[in-house]
Amino acid sequence: MSARRKRRLFFALWPDAEVRNSLASAAAVVRKHGSGRSVPDENLHITLAFLGSVDEEVLDCVRSAAEQVNAGAFSLTIDRAGWWKRTGILWLGPSAGPAALNRLVKSLWAALEPCGFWPDFRDFHPHVTIARRWRKARLPEIKPVHWPIDALMLLESHTGQRGARYTLLERWPLIR
Ligand code: ATP
Ligand code: MG
Repeated sequence: MSARRKRRLFFALWPDAEVRNSLASAAAVVRKHGSGRSVPDENLHITLAFLGSVDEEVLDCVRSAAEQVNAGAFSLTIDRAGWWKRTGILWLGPSAGPAALNRLVKSLWAALEPCGFWPDFRDFHPHVTIARRWRKARLPEIKPVHWPIDALMLLESHTGQRGARYTLLERWPLIR
């Protein structure tokens, strides 16, 4: 029996340095009003599709799925903080329904289906997790962050001593 290598993968929107700085500043403001476990600034992202533990041999299918995604670039405004009581997740996200983002995620899951992934689009709530195990104090207003979305990224998650670490595997520009 051969031990097949598995990799923990997810598609995400990965901010550039400028957007990351702005998200980090907004996160710092929100995190002044409570306590929990902060997500390090270098980990901030929006997950589009979580694939979980994937066999090495499925990776080619995943890559070609990403190539087939039919979506153009758009602009996302991150303008509010939120908190999910049940999971203890503190987040930043868009308050306006991001139709272009929903179309992107729909197209991505549709492309992934032949690789054996079950779309969980119904559960898609775009957010940047900024802390976990959060006990709510209050949610302040944030300075809106304008995030130009022009690419889709595939990331691998590694379990480090101080929580998850991510490596960027590949990036696909959004062109239609
Ligand atoms: P840790 O699990 O170590 O606290 P993490 O959740 O950031 O850190 P992963 O569990 O590898 O690391 O998850 C990678 C990304 O996928 C994160 O954005 C996470 O929120 C998301 N994710 C993880 N599990 C699921 C899931 N079951 N459904 C949807 N998204 C998920
Ligand atoms: Mg996790």
